[in-house]
Amino acid sequence: MTAVQALIAEDDPVSRNLLERVLSSWGYEVVVTCNGEEAWGWLQLDEAPPIVILDWMMPDLDGLEVCRRVRALGLPAPPYIILLSARDGKSDIVEGLNAGANDYVGKPFDRGELRARLEVGRRFVELNRELLETQRTLEIQARIDSLTGCMNRRAILERLEEEMARTERQGSLLGVGLIDIDRFKLVNDTFGHATGDDVLREFVSRSMRAMRAYDALGRFGGEEFLVVVPGADSDETEGVLERIRLAICSAPIVAEGNEVNVAVSIGGAVTRGGLIDGVLRAADDALYQAKSCGRNRVVVHEQESTMSAAGEEMNAAARGPFV
Ligand code: GH3
Ligand code: MG
Ligand code: MG
Ligand code: MG
Repeated sequence: MTAVQALIAEDDPVSRNLLERVLSSWGYEVVVTCNGEEAWGWLQLDEAPPIVILDWMMPDLDGLEVCRRVRALGLPAPPYIILLSARDGKSDIVEGLNAGANDYVGKPFDRGELRARLEVGRRFVELNRELLETQRTLEIQARIDSLTGCMNRRAILERLEEEMARTERQGSLLGVGLIDIDRFKLVNDTFGHATGDDVLREFVSRSMRAMRAYDALGRFGGEEFLVVVPGADSDETEGVLERIRLAICSAPIVAEGNEVNVAVSIGGAVTRGGLIDGVLRAADDALYQAKSCGRNRVVVHEQESTMSAAGEEMNAAARGPFV
């Protein structure tokens, strides 16, 4: 186990040396400071020591003020602060804890008590670290489609929102593609659901390889996927979407010993920004056209030219919200 860092801030040299010696003997990696300013300097670092013993009475910046400053930082993983003071009346303890200390130890300190209280701090820091890690993992998982590993619907829609805003700000263009696997129900019916799942995974891996590094792919639902193609006019969008189409149909997908011939229909649209509903609707219209013209093809619409504003409104009202 790696040693936990503990910071000591104590202006009295005798007490400081004693603290340094006992903490080192208990296995802590000790950082020694002689005043509040020095301690505050350490505590603002990204890799600040997670456990802190602060003397209350120090010239200039006292322990209480250091506590307040640390709390004001609002850190997700704040240090565990033990305030050390000869002021050990009830109201002093209350004042110390109110300033943001996690614990309070009277001076001169009892070794057994200090060691046990440091141990509480170490457990607190460790637990907090684990919680943050779990939270980060959950945040990542909440954005990933568990079957295919690509972005899920929520994540790809968020990316689309971001790219729409950027496109509008920069006065550039943005391509979007809605991909639907052709006759996918037949794949399931013929080869079974497990093979269907493999096909979805292989679809994602082939599509990713066909895209540019800054394009994004997400599962929109079932066997439908959404591609976001930043900075692309309709020719470039068509180029990316066509590469995806070819990557899927050019060789059969081998899944569970079956060779499955798979094709996709893709509807594309290009926009200059605005609400995502409009561009998704245009891509969906293009997808519908690709399906009705025989499948296994790409159809790209320029959003602005697909329909008049009035037509767009009428259609939107008839079909309800897209997302
Ligand atoms: P079309 O060419 O018109 O798109 O025909 P299709 O068969 O692909 O369309 P349809 O909407 O009739 O069927 C989609 C199928 O996708 C039905 C559903 O069971 C299957 N599907 C959706 N999600 C999954 C999944 O996670 N795994 C598997 N194996 N199948 C899925
Ligand atoms: Mg002092
Ligand atoms: Mg579908
Ligand atoms: Mg389909």
